This record gives sequence, C-alpha cells and structure tokens, in this order.
Amino acid sequence: SKQEVLAMRKQYLSPALFHHFKDPVMTVDGSMQYLFDEKGRRYLDAFAGIVTVSVGHCHPEVNRAVIEQTQRLQHTTTIYLHNQVAEYAKELTDRMPGNLKVAYFVNSGSEANDMAMMMARLYTHNHDIITLRNAYHGLSEATMGLLGQHTWKCAVPQGAGVHHALNPNPYRGAWGNDGPRYAADVADLIQSATPGKVAAFIHETIQGVGGAVPLADGYLPTVYKMVREAGGVCIADEVQTGFGRTGSAYWGFENQGVVPDIVTLAKGIGNGLPLAAVVTTPEIAAVLAARLHFNTYGGNPVSCAAGRAVLRVIDQEGLQANCAAVGGHLVEELRRLQGKHDIIGDVRGRGLMEPAVAEVAQVFERCKDLGVLLGKGGLHGNAFRIKPPMCWTTADVDFLVAVLDQALSEL
Ligand code: PMP
Repeated sequence: SKQEVLAMRKQYLSPALFHHFKDPVMTVDGSMQYLFDEKGRRYLDAFAGIVTVSVGHCHPEVNRAVIEQTQRLQHTTTIYLHNQVAEYAKELTDRMPGNLKVAYFVNSGSEANDMAMMMARLYTHNHDIITLRNAYHGLSEATMGLLGQHTWKCAVPQGAGVHHALNPNPYRGAWGNDGPRYAADVADLIQSATPGKVAAFIHETIQGVGGAVPLADGYLPTVYKMVREAGGVCIADEVQTGFGRTGSAYWGFENQGVVPDIVTLAKGIGNGLPLAAVVTTPEIAAVLAARLHFNTYGGNPVSCAAGRAVLRVIDQEGLQANCAAVGGHLVEELRRLQGKHDIIGDVRGRGLMEPAVAEVAQVFERCKDLGVLLGKGGLHGNAFRIKPPMCWTTADVDFLVAVLDQALSEL
C-alpha cells in the first residue's frame, strides 16, 4: 500500500529524498500525458518526471525499441562493438549544427557537465569557468560548484575556479531584456577574477530549476565572443531545453543564434531511460585520447535504442511543431489568467516550458487534488514549472488552465 511504501522509503532510503505534495502521489502506471495512482486515479502530468518523459509515458515506439533490444543484448560496454551506439551517435550529431559532430555517452546530466568542464580545461589549458547566478547544472561534486542557487548548496568546498556572472533575467534583472548590457558583467569577471584567460562559459538557455528564466535577448552572442577572445569555449547545457521542447528550435541555443563548442544532453534524450551525452567538435573531442576516460554504462544498447526511438517519434509525430502550437496556446491562456489574478507576476518561457508565479504551495496542492501534477522551482520555490510531455494537446492546456484558475480563485 501507499502507506507501506512511504514507511519503507523513510526506513531504507536516504533522507536526501523528498517528495512533492503533503500527501505524496504514488505513481503506478503512465500513459502518454497521464499518470495513474494506486487507486487508478488519473492525473494530467505537467512535469514529465522533471522534464524527462519527452515523448510521453510508455510511448509505444520507445517501448517497442527497448523491449526488442532488451531481449537481444543489454550490456557489454564499449570495449566491444555494437551497432546501436554507433548509429545513434550518427543520428544525434546529424541534428547538431556546425562542427558538433562527435558524441560521448554517459548516464546523467551531472556526468555530462562534469565531462564538458574537464574537456574544456584540457583543451584550453585554462582553469577558470564562468557560470550564471541562478544556474543548475547537476549535483555531482564538480557541478555543485556551478550552482547559482542556495537551495542545493551544502557545506563542503565547491567550485574552485568557478565564477558566477549576473544572470540576464528579463523579468527581475536590472537591465530588463537588454542581453548585451548584462554581458558586461562577464567581461568584468574575466578582468577581475581570472588571469584574463578562461576555460569555459557554461549556461542553460532557459534556466530550468531556477524557475524557467530565459536569457535576455542578445546575451549569448555577446558573451560567446568575449569568452572566445579570452581563450575559452562555450558550453550549452541543453539538458532541459533540447529536442524541440522550446518549439521555435530543436536546440535551445538556436533561439539566440549561437553555435556552442560543447553541448550537454540528458533528461528528455532517453524519455526516462538512463542516457546522457556530451557532443562536441572533433578538435575538442581529441583531448580525450584512448584510456583517458571510461564509462561503464554509457552508450549501452538499451538506452541507445530508446534514444533513437525518441528522435524518430519527435520527427514522425511533429512534436517540435506541437510544442510551438500548444506552448503558444498555453502562454496565451496563462496571460489571460494573469489579467484575472493579480498574484501572477510573470508568464514566461518557450514552447512547452512555461512557469506561472503564484502562492505556489497552496495552488500546487490544490491542482493536484483537482487532477494536475505541476512542477515548481525558482530561487524561492515560487515559480510553477509547466514542462509536460511534448505530446500535450490544446485540450490538456485548457484543462490545466481551468484547474489553475479554480485553485487561484480559492486563494
Ligand atoms: N543540467 C540541467 C539544466 C538540469 O536541469 C539538470 C537536472 N535537473 C542537470 C543538468 C543534472 O542532470 P541529472 O540530474 O541527470 O544529473
């Protein structure tokens, strides 16, 4: 029973675990945009296992690919040859712009960002890394140093050589939506906190855990230029924004017209199977000579089969266009709610990546009671994170908005 699972979790699992909702939801089944609890109650999923179940829960095409591969071969590591990892690397890098043509597979976003930082340092022979305030790039020992949020920091030394620049937040930032003006802070950091040379600049294109904060217009082209002039490489963390979720582009960085030197991928890449990747240029990839790195599970055939199925489904079902259309409807409807409820400060995002700010705690619980599972985030936990499976329809948006409207009206 749910009570037994809760008790066992308390007894046998790390206290680091936390759950959403005072009375947590026990998830038993999933089907596309819906989750079902132990009593068979259906919820509309607006958070997709934290922006991860990209094409829908138990999507039949992903299921088929995973089952087929599971029945043939599950794991040998890359010391043997296998077609899945090779074909997947080609299919994935075919979707990348410029010279981003070499992939290395790992298992989580944190690992991918660890590796990106290491490659940047090896390639440039520099040490300093610039990240943004309000950033989230993972919780491994190294990526914890990149954190720009007090929420996840802990009392161990972190982030030697890491510097936090002002995040170009169009809603709350000092310079509004003027990206190049915020970039001056990066120039200042390079001058004042580094030897004048840097290894890398790492960024999300929409700060996800930080409350879906997009980067002000024109920010990335200006910063990329500064960082490259200081000898560094530019790392785009596409863990939340990749694979068409923003609707207007396949990769989030394309929305600002830049091409990074290293791209990190996780979450939606495998629809929930453990899969992550670092994609870079052949020149940068060359810093990892044979035996300089190894990853036991990375690129395992089952995860790669899932990754390939995700790419096919996004294309076949036109999910990027769906994100643009359904996401556009979502913004419109949330703006309508904003006009009605003073408590909503801002509606922002792209495609199916939108938050609404409110008295989150109460509304969050009430929406759950009414059948919608939202996410939340931001420095103060006061931003709703609406990042559903990309198969959401306009009817799902209308249901969410009706539920949100009711919950807000009850405040
Ligand atoms: N980068 C971003 C942008 C993320 O949102 C996350 C996870 N929330 C990570 C990296 C870390 O991914 P993982 O939890 O798979 O290590």
